[in-house]
Order: sequence, then structure tokens, then C-alpha cells
Amino acid sequence: MHPDYKDVGKITTRTIEECSELIKALCKAERFGWFTWHPDDVTKTFNIEKTYQELLDVKETVQELLEYLIRIKLKQTWALCKSCRKSVPTNWEKCPYCRKEKA
Ligand SMILES: [Zn+2]
Repeated sequence: MHPDYKDVGKITTRTIEECSELIKALCKAERFGWFTWHPDDVTKTFNIEKTYQELLDVKETVQELLEYLIRIKLKQTWALCKSCRKSVPTNWEKCPYCRKEKA
């Protein structure tokens, strides 16, 4: 991933994009082998090295996604459903468990 664009876009979108780049690298390696490179690659970088880099990008992005999800979960306010007594996000119109309206 290019360092200038590392933080551009939502973390969810960036995770999807990085995962797709890893999938692509894995597909190329599966088709053509780990120790070959793309014919247009002037740097002649082995597929295993490209896959390694994509894997590290995914690892970094997944870590960031995990931290983001923890933050939004901690920010969410919760309340007990008056019908089923399960803990539900306060911004739900209906309880996601028992589907009863918020009282
Ligand atoms: Zn409920």
C-alpha cells in the first residue's frame, strides 16, 4: 500500500481492498508459481515476495479494523430489552432478539 494513501477512505473499504489484493497475489502465485514474476514487472519481483507484502498490508489493515470495531462497540450505548431482558443497542427501533418495539 502506498504510504500517502494509507489513511484515505473508510477502514472497512480499505480492508476489503487489501484483502482483494492478497487474493489476487495468491491467485497469481497459484497459477504461475511462487518463484516467477509478472512478465511486465521490470523489478522482477517473485510472486512470493509480492504475496508477502500483500499479506503484511492485510495484517496492518485488519489490526486497524479490529481497533476501529472495538472503539465503535465501546461508544455504543446499551439497554435491557423490557420484554426479553437481553442487552440491545439503544438506537434500535425493535429488539433484534424478540422483535418487540422499544417501550
Ligand atoms: Zn427483546
